Amino acid sequence: MRTRFAPSPTGYLHLGHAKAAYEAFHYAQSAGGVCLLRIEDTDHTRCKPEYTQAVFTDLDWLGFDWPVPARRQSQHYPDYAKVVLQLLERGLAYPCALTRSDIKNGSQPAPENFAAHWNNEQVISRLQSAAATEAPTLPFSIRLNLSKAIRTLNKAAKFKETGPLYTGVYDARESLAQREDPILARKDIGCSYMIAGPHDDWHQNISHVVRGADLFHETALHVLIQNLMGWPTPLYHHHGLVLAETGEKLSKRNLDTSLHGLREAGQTRENIFDLIHMDRL
Ligand code: GLU
Repeated sequence: MRTRFAPSPTGYLHLGHAKAAYEAFHYAQSAGGVCLLRIEDTDHTRCKPEYTQAVFTDLDWLGFDWPVPARRQSQHYPDYAKVVLQLLERGLAYPCALTRSDIKNGSQPAPENFAAHWNNEQVISRLQSAAATEAPTLPFSIRLNLSKAIRTLNKAAKFKETGPLYTGVYDARESLAQREDPILARKDIGCSYMIAGPHDDWHQNISHVVRGADLFHETALHVLIQNLMGWPTPLYHHHGLVLAETGEKLSKRNLDTSLHGLREAGQTRENIFDLIHMDRL
């Protein structure tokens, strides 16, 4: 069995990440499996090399071990473009020039709303050439045609959840019915978490996805992509989150909870495990 810890290095890891890492590493270790480390740094507008370096330092400090080298998504843009290309070629994805504010003002993303002068071949060649660079960008985003994708599937897209908050078996199609067509490739980064995550879970042979409950609502879309691409669906386990004292979700803005900051302030790794109410591995 294989799990993974997959942080995005857009800031220093905080206590919430310590808990997520603990959950993923502990889950694997207690079943005799292995937990991989994956750096989800496709967002070149926000990720920084020093934060990636800090992920390694913090996890080392906490005592976690992972098979090296860790996969860095920013080195694999062409892999993600291939998936988007396939969906475009199958008529399941379309370029979309709408901005967030167009959508707020009532424009609906839909294949026929793409008013620019790109034909499918040009879209494909733009995506390919963007993916070959270190910081891809596109003149449009690419969205999944959700209703067509669900119709094409023509069968249940089940997944099993074993986490404490959402235990059960779900059909991804049911949770997706009302959703806006999701973005498969963002304009500013030429790809998306929606594609890169499921691609890598497949590529890295992940059998159990153990991650925070805040990502539960993304799971149906990941499962849909897996079904469209013929990738197996792993088991899912979404664990509870460490909350700030205010009861809010921790974020990178809560600097006082960064592992880097806590270490500098003289905290020990034992203190960190106490703070997340976990024993050391
Ligand atoms: N990179 C995501 C995050 O930091 C986690 C992705 C996942 O576990 O699927 O929130």
